[in-house]
Amino acid sequence: MDWSVLQVIHRLGAIPQHKLAEQIGRQRSTINGAVQRLVTSGWLKRVGQSGSGRGRPAILLAVNRAVGCFGGIDIAANELHCAVVAADGTLLEHTSSRLGNDRSLPAVVDQIDLNLRGLLSRAEFGVPALLGLWAGINGAVDDRGMVVTCASLGWHNEPFRQVLRERYACDVLVQGGATVMTAAAEALMGVGRDADSLVYYHAGRGISARFVQRGRPLSGATQRAGEIGHVVVAPGQAKCVCGNSGCLEAVASGPALLAAMKKLPRRSLPENVRKLLWQCDAYPPAKIVQAAFKHRPRRKDEPLAALLNQITNYLAMGAAMAVAAYDPELLVLGGYLFEDNPALRKDVQRALERMVLDWDDRGLRVVKGEVLTQDRAIGGAAEVCQRFWANPRGIVAPS
Ligand SMILES: [Zn+2]
Repeated sequence: MDWSVLQVIHRLGAIPQHKLAEQIGRQRSTINGAVQRLVTSGWLKRVGQSGSGRGRPAILLAVNRAVGCFGGIDIAANELHCAVVAADGTLLEHTSSRLGNDRSLPAVVDQIDLNLRGLLSRAEFGVPALLGLWAGINGAVDDRGMVVTCASLGWHNEPFRQVLRERYACDVLVQGGATVMTAAAEALMGVGRDADSLVYYHAGRGISARFVQRGRPLSGATQRAGEIGHVVVAPGQAKCVCGNSGCLEAVASGPALLAAMKKLPRRSLPENVRKLLWQCDAYPPAKIVQAAFKHRPRRKDEPLAALLNQITNYLAMGAAMAVAAYDPELLVLGGYLFEDNPALRKDVQRALERMVLDWDDRGLRVVKGEVLTQDRAIGGAAEVCQRFWANPRGIVAPS
């Protein structure tokens, strides 16, 4: 009971106490008891009065922002980003620092601790105020928050979630793969901050399409929502890491494009692209992809032009699937294939105009992503905040 009261107030904002009974459909005395307990335990506070209308002005109830906060931690290749958001999801503090040389689990957790405590004290909270923590890491994470493998930290089977839970005594969500957090950050503070729904379509090392509606990322029953990179679009073609052949990711991701370019006759590649490609260990893949699109031969039957055209079509098919599945207001293009690559973004949009049903009626906007890496910690903290409000987990005083 207490929980439903709190949830309704969180959802609707400040509300007079007598309106709660109508919203929840329970006896007023039951509601009053719950409100009293929530005020005593610090979850609710009475704020001002609603002055309009006849009769006595009613006192409004609101969620007490000071009751606690949520933390976000993002471990990138060489950097650590931390953020703290208030109980209502508003940003309080964030910071970024370089990861130390010692990348062992205890050393990284110590560095997290130092940063997080600093943020909490600046926000005037203590560690016990943490209601939930989100940690993102660029690696494979299992259902129990165990980091199975993370190449940049050299971790194998590290119980990351368990260590964080023991240290902070709160719910901890550990997620691998950066796209979930980027999508949440785009919705919260990036290009999607004024949109009701968005799909963040990521094409880089992998391909995925994350859906966020009213700030809530759709995660699915097993956290795999949006893994469209493993839908087969070219049956029987390139082998995929997942075991299938012709997955979207196996034919149109960054590594797939570079591998296909290497198979083209060398002479058919523009000189600067050829140079970059054959010394690709020295260049980030993003640079090579951008050069290929920028210096694409004009003649469509040239091998490189044909390859880029094919990749563009595959990418558009993925985007069209995501649009068909989710019907978003905004399609955000991110990942290194799209970054600094206006030619590809334009071509994908053109292809979508042909592929998507009722394109003209949808008013779908196709835009490029704008969040920076450090924003992901904030997006993660906001995500764990959203999840907290959607699911009580017994944190509120029992009714
Ligand atoms: Zn696959």
